[in-house]
Amino acid sequence: MRKKIVAGNWKMNMNLAEGLKFAESVSRYFNNKPAAKAEVILCTPFIHLGGVSAILENSKVASGAQNCASEESGAYTGEVSAGMIKSTGAKYVIIGHSERRSYYHEDDAILNRKTSMALKSGLKVIFCCGEVKEERETGKHFEVVKRQLENGLFLHSGNEMAEVVIAYEPVWAIGTGLTATPDQAQEMHKFIRQLVNEKYGKEIAEDMTILYGGSCKPSNAAEIFSKPDVDGGLIGGASLKLDDFTAIVEAV
Ligand code: PEP
Repeated sequence: MRKKIVAGNWKMNMNLAEGLKFAESVSRYFNNKPAAKAEVILCTPFIHLGGVSAILENSKVASGAQNCASEESGAYTGEVSAGMIKSTGAKYVIIGHSERRSYYHEDDAILNRKTSMALKSGLKVIFCCGEVKEERETGKHFEVVKRQLENGLFLHSGNEMAEVVIAYEPVWAIGTGLTATPDQAQEMHKFIRQLVNEKYGKEIAEDMTILYGGSCKPSNAAEIFSKPDVDGGLIGGASLKLDDFTAIVEAV
């Protein structure tokens, strides 16, 4: 049976003290509850990751990074390798977020390399895909997502895909307050699962966790998550507020 996941993406928010305090609150909240139906992950800035991973060790919440280098080690000033992320105790890394694709020009080839580095280091990958507004309006959204997956992710083996989670994040819905309708999300998630099926077979496709991301909040989460191919969410803004984030986890 495939795993349900709710992952918070803090983006570039909170200083170190604020982030550690927030991670402690999230950890306390879930540790005092019966096991949630979803795995809960906090994807933090690099500066927080060692501290947050230590706080979350032996807790019901996992930690992750929001990016990793496309190279293993060496003279890459300012970069953070997948191996370094793994050494903090983090389990996950987000790769291919639309903000990285657009602001830092990360293309499919770079994302493929980053995915290889992450998997080689023993991290699980949350691989993001999604179309911009114009692509949706001109009916190119399926084609775009197919290209992103085929060129950035599907060069990996079936065994490696067991360590991958796909996040469908329509770019027009990220941080905008616009959300894909539950039917739009379901239609794309089903399409993605079908692509995985064609490439890797039914078992891997059925086991693949596919998250929805894009202005997910307590008021819309339950309806989106009720769709059969939506296995949880990647949450940006709402992951910064304890009440909102925990309510979204509970909506699974
Ligand atoms: C995200 O950054 O992955 C995201 C989904 O952001 P938001 O929830 O704020 O739209």
